[in-house]
Amino acid sequence: MSSPPAEPAAKPEKSESRAPDGAAEEVAPGILRVMLPVGLPGLGHVNCYVLEDAHGLALIDPGLADGGSHTALADQLREVGLDIADVHTVVVTHSHFDHYGGLARLRNLEGGRDIAVVTHRNFGDGWREAYDEVLESPEVDDRARADLEIWIDEVLPKLRRPVPWGGLTDGPPPEFIRFAAVGIDPTSTLRPPDPTHEVADGDRLLLGGLEWTVIHTPGHADDHICLWNGELGVMFSGDHVLPTITPHIGGLTADADPLGSFFDSLDRMESYESTIVLPAHGDPFEDLAGRARDIAAHHRDRLDRVRSIGEEIGSQPVTSYMQGLFRERSWGQMAASETYAHLEWLRLRGDATRSESGGTFHYDV
Ligand SMILES: [Zn+2]
Ligand SMILES: [Zn+2]
Repeated sequence: MSSPPAEPAAKPEKSESRAPDGAAEEVAPGILRVMLPVGLPGLGHVNCYVLEDAHGLALIDPGLADGGSHTALADQLREVGLDIADVHTVVVTHSHFDHYGGLARLRNLEGGRDIAVVTHRNFGDGWREAYDEVLESPEVDDRARADLEIWIDEVLPKLRRPVPWGGLTDGPPPEFIRFAAVGIDPTSTLRPPDPTHEVADGDRLLLGGLEWTVIHTPGHADDHICLWNGELGVMFSGDHVLPTITPHIGGLTADADPLGSFFDSLDRMESYESTIVLPAHGDPFEDLAGRARDIAAHHRDRLDRVRSIGEEIGSQPVTSYMQGLFRERSWGQMAASETYAHLEWLRLRGDATRSESGGTFHYDV
């Protein structure tokens, strides 16, 4: 009798997808990691880092706008003897709503401080204007604010805008509907907040009594920053370098060559002898330069794949390349946007040509 076939080895869990375990943890001297729930595809949490000084608390990435995220933060701080009302500074690594959404509740906290909000100077450009246009439109009245269906049918579709490769952005993203369903006005809470302090590459910040250097790392978002402290050997890497997943490279940006910028931003990680990398999703890790090289290699493989798809399909729109590059369950605006970033990288280096037909780009690779 033969023995039953071995069970296929389970895929190791990616630390980015784990649900929060509910306890703040010191991950570097004087730096607490608080995992906040997000529940987005592939992401179980966002890390909010907490640094204390004589005046109170500084946070890096305060999580989502919903009440669950806020309560998780308040509870975990309380358990280690800290008070959420003592937050005086919030640094937001980039303009994605899972990183800045929680700021709205912190700013409105009864008994809370005036909060200094630190972002890159490009923060939210383009998106903030799109939200404001919707907020100022006549349809956004009390009737719309009180009725989820009106939000979904009349107000949110106004946030659709043309994409450079042809067509419009997708309809309201699911997170809008989720927020609206729990009574959060999605347009005002998801609008990228106005910073009080804008920073640029090389600027210094004092957080938790330590000096941090701002490193502008465009690619995942063109307003993305990392923070470095050489004394501790700590890098806050945001979504730029994640431990096991590769960050999305968006083509919907003012940056004409987001993938090229991303490669440059990854190369810059070589010059930091990091001992502890603290990412916005997933567990702390050590080999910053090695992980940055692996992520760059992943995108070079994807460029090779785009080249071989091009040989097969000839002159085609972005969506045709996307269907060759991504599994069907991922097809959609994010996949198209990332495909577009790869096609533009090739075109800008003379490896692809672009033509336009009926408002849609066709690429010959
Ligand atoms: Zn992000
Ligand atoms: Zn993120």
